[in-house]
Amino acid sequence: MQETSKTVSVGKGDTLMKVLTRAGAGPKESHEAITALSSVFDPRRLKIGQDITLNFSNQDLLVKDKFEEPLRLVSISLNQDVDKQVAAIRSPDKGFEARETIIALDKKMARAGGVIENSLFLSAAQAGLPTRITLQLIRIFSYDVDFQREIQTGDSFEVYFERYVDESGRALKEGRIQWASMTLSGKKISLYSFKTKDDGFSDYYDQKGQSVRKTLMRTPIDGARLTSRFGKRKHPILGYTKMHKGADFGAPRGTPIMAAGNGIVERAGRNGAYGNYIRIRHTSEYKTAYAHMKGFAKKVGKGSRVKQGQIIGYVGTTGRSTGPHLHYEVHKNGRLINPLSVKLPAGRKLKGKILTSFKAFAGQMDKAVTDIPMNTKMAKLN
Ligand SMILES: [Zn+2]
Repeated sequence: MQETSKTVSVGKGDTLMKVLTRAGAGPKESHEAITALSSVFDPRRLKIGQDITLNFSNQDLLVKDKFEEPLRLVSISLNQDVDKQVAAIRSPDKGFEARETIIALDKKMARAGGVIENSLFLSAAQAGLPTRITLQLIRIFSYDVDFQREIQTGDSFEVYFERYVDESGRALKEGRIQWASMTLSGKKISLYSFKTKDDGFSDYYDQKGQSVRKTLMRTPIDGARLTSRFGKRKHPILGYTKMHKGADFGAPRGTPIMAAGNGIVERAGRNGAYGNYIRIRHTSEYKTAYAHMKGFAKKVGKGSRVKQGQIIGYVGTTGRSTGPHLHYEVHKNGRLINPLSVKLPAGRKLKGKILTSFKAFAGQMDKAVTDIPMNTKMAKLN
């Protein structure tokens, strides 16, 4: 019997058919294998660089010890995700059959941190923090921290998060942040992921059992992409003055802008010096407005219902504007208020028995975090 195995990488412009025939499979058997595979894998999701393994054999599957010429394709397989393999396998008499295999990964906790030198995003990248985790970190602190103005050189961050590893201990996938802290101008804020038993929801709480979630976010923009030191310049049009009642966030054109809170879009369109403009009504008290946008997100228009954190549009410089930035306003009972100093209605505050169990949980978490060494330069995912 003759058997051979080949692993080929998907190149630019490749289809599954091209890859298989290039590896030596015949057009008919390739087509059959692809047809079977497509019941568990969408061939359009094929990625450049993805490896595909082909097995060939000359054994007749029906008749033992009977060998044929030439070699035939007996299986193709590929990893759809780090923890999922899909395959099409030739079976006696029935052509190819699809198979899905879930690869078991172990969950391991990781701890990483560093001091902010320039921007949080750069320092986090230098510490080897995976991008997905940095974005989570920014998101959970976005309710409290103005990422444009409050981050200073010398501030620090620390994260304790889940990582999924294979049998050899290689990290393959990131999970959720379980605990994180930021020390800003000497003040440390620690946040714990905690599931409240009464409603089954997981959320982030501070040491006192106060949910970080607020009616409005303080940084309604992808905080990772803010132009560093933008807010520190004194500029006649920028910064909070009596003439300019809003907060400006400098970011590259196209940076996603998020709805600061749940609400209904009251206005979406051109608005004079504001350029492309959106206004959202959140409660009977609060409204927020977003100006100078490049454009609006799909399906966001007058009357649409939006969720907190949902992308509503993109940074631009339309209207009277000196460069790409988001001009953000908070209106309270019809009056413009300073978005930087507004005291926002807070989310859930744990009380009674739930608070007691949260405190015990937080104590255990503090211990678990310090039990593993902190990485200041983590290994990157392969
Ligand atoms: Zn402005």
